[in-house]
Amino acid sequence: MVLIIFLLGLAFGSFVGVLTWRLPRGKQFLLGRSICPHCKHQIAWFDNIPLVSFLALKGRCRHCRARISRRYPAVELALGVLFVLLYLRLLSCPSPEAVCLIRTTYALPGILFLFFILLLNLAIFVIDIEKRIIPDELVFAGLASLSILLVLGPQHAFYLRFFSAFLAAFLLLTLNIATKGKGMGLGDVKYALLGGLFFGWPLTLVWLLTAFLTGALAAIILILTGKAGMKDKIAFGPFMAIALVIVMFFGERILGLIWL
Ligand SMILES: [Zn+2]
Repeated sequence: MVLIIFLLGLAFGSFVGVLTWRLPRGKQFLLGRSICPHCKHQIAWFDNIPLVSFLALKGRCRHCRARISRRYPAVELALGVLFVLLYLRLLSCPSPEAVCLIRTTYALPGILFLFFILLLNLAIFVIDIEKRIIPDELVFAGLASLSILLVLGPQHAFYLRFFSAFLAAFLLLTLNIATKGKGMGLGDVKYALLGGLFFGWPLTLVWLLTAFLTGALAAIILILTGKAGMKDKIAFGPFMAIALVIVMFFGERILGLIWL
């Protein structure tokens, strides 16, 4: 079963690889065969097998030998691992963690949503690192699917999540205005709506705190290693994405540490 989940993760990861390249470039991403961006040759199905083809072709196009971006195998592997982690986590339910709460409250639609948000989150992470934007399409897809899920469940859960979403967005919007858009983008604000709706109260605060701390840690490392200067801007979205995964799996445990 773990192997099947991993292979599913690789397959969906392959889609995320294409999505993260095409979406910010305004290209159609649901349909259309993959082509080599260098020689425009259509890529045969046997050269399009996640991970395997990249290794078999040694990272080069079969026709023109141009390098294939490492993004593809990296994203495929990342989603494969994330899917397996989620699957293993779900097996260890019940626990107070967000993942188990969604599972027990919303059953199969909830489980499918959890896999979906990992996919969206990875796409946001990759696009924000490369292009410094968070496409509205991704955030809205998450908000729409999550809203449908929440409407299916008990009402009391809905209002607290709604409140958390607006509080998180309000916090980031305040930072956006205070820094005149230099610290926090409006994409981050919309992304905070999604995270807040997903985590509810008080995990939303744990999520933002984790994002700030991992962001600060990364900034210190980048500055100490000379990869960034004090004046360089570092996008916040990727850290919101990293924190989302951490808090999804360990939020309640982190909350326990803060309370102690
Ligand atoms: Zn080529």
